[in-house]
Amino acid sequence: MDNTGFDFYKLETFMTDRQRRVRDAVREFVQSEVLPNINPYWDRAEFPREVVMKMRDLDPPIVGGIIRGWGSAGLDPLEMGLVMYELAKGDGSISTFYGVQSGLAMGSIGLLGSDEQRERWLPGMARLEKIGAFGLTEPDHGSDATSIETSAVRDGDDYILNGEKRWIGNASIADVLIIWARDEEGGIGGFVIEDPQHVEGVEICDLQGKIAKRGVLNAHITLRNVRVPAENRLAKTRSFADIGKVLTIGRVGVAWEAAGVAAGAFEHALTYARERKQFGRPIASFQLIQQKLAEMATEVTLMQLMCFQLSQLLGAGQITPGMASMAKYNNARKARYVAALARETMGGNGILIENHVARLFTDAEAVYTYEGTNEVQLLLLARELTGIDALA
Ligand SMILES: Cc1cc2nc3c(=O)[nH]c(=O)nc-3n(C[C@H](O)[C@H](O)[C@H](O)COP(=O)(O)OP(=O)(O)OC[C@H]3O[C@@H](n4cnc5c(N)ncnc54)[C@H](O)[C@@H]3O)c2cc1C
Repeated sequence: MDNTGFDFYKLETFMTDRQRRVRDAVREFVQSEVLPNINPYWDRAEFPREVVMKMRDLDPPIVGGIIRGWGSAGLDPLEMGLVMYELAKGDGSISTFYGVQSGLAMGSIGLLGSDEQRERWLPGMARLEKIGAFGLTEPDHGSDATSIETSAVRDGDDYILNGEKRWIGNASIADVLIIWARDEEGGIGGFVIEDPQHVEGVEICDLQGKIAKRGVLNAHITLRNVRVPAENRLAKTRSFADIGKVLTIGRVGVAWEAAGVAAGAFEHALTYARERKQFGRPIASFQLIQQKLAEMATEVTLMQLMCFQLSQLLGAGQITPGMASMAKYNNARKARYVAALARETMGGNGILIENHVARLFTDAEAVYTYEGTNEVQLLLLARELTGIDALA
């Protein structure tokens, strides 16, 4: 393996100079800032603010993903994917933070906000002066998020929000919290609560005891008669289909993230297998270990190929929700498998977080479930294939 990481089918030769520069800037950030510092944060289940804030110094910039304008990075879809891939190779909490900030939160405002709303929130978020969160899931509605019950009732120039949200990443440190809620007409809107920690009626408690992505905080939110100015309703949000547009792009990012988790675990296992000796020989010389390495390499390559083409389709405006679901389904499942093979290749050392694979192994569990579980991705894909909605 050369210094560009595992790239067996030489996808790098199909990248532009700028795409390579973006990838290399993130790779350098992961090597110099993430890997040397992340483990104590993970151990304490603490948000690595000092590490994350250094993301804003990257050249080319990456915060804001594919949003063009309003201070955002304006990445192309392949660059956006490479950012997720490289961050996830290092640590899944950092990639999740980036995905929530640049994809779900800024992406909702960029895709569904008015120009005035974009101008108001995006520049500060792009500089990481404002942290974003995306509140869709509720205690009683995860896979069936189309049935969310949080209500938004119009009262003069405000909406009054009531309900509960669960699992919301970045919420307890958020400056811009988007709450998805149902209005009196049955429509769905995205309502931006600014500085939520200081808004009357908002209670945010971080979930404790999480085994995966321990460096990113996920919260339970209770909303009791929370007043939100009507001008804070994202201008183009009327139905669940609007959220679907954000989630389709989000799933492209998560497919890349899963590929990164798998590639990171595989690269660590390959290095380890060449160095670790048992029975007087490197364990990489044993056929049963070679089988695991060859299998991991093949799965990682398939994941990379799928992601590469998915980004081309997104860039060409030809992506469908089913295409994103297929890649999220395949890669999340395979990331779990590859991370487990890598973990076992490293024996007891694979259990220690100091060797990094244990962290990636648990990150794969969260990737498997969030932004739609594997079952949900299969059903979304099958809906596109058959024209029949099994989730209705
Ligand atoms: C680390 C992490 C971070 C997250 N971050 C956010 C965030 O920032 N914002 C946000 O809004 N949400 C977030 N989520 C929530 C996430 O999107 C949900 O966990 C996910 O959609 C699944 O919902 P659930 O956990 O309620 O599981 P459930 O929907 O209760 O599912 C339980 C099981 O039943 C299966 N199932 C459900 N329905 C069907 C069906 N029709 N057919 C077959 N099987 C079915 C599921 O696949 C799953 O295996 C996060 C979750 C995690 C774990």
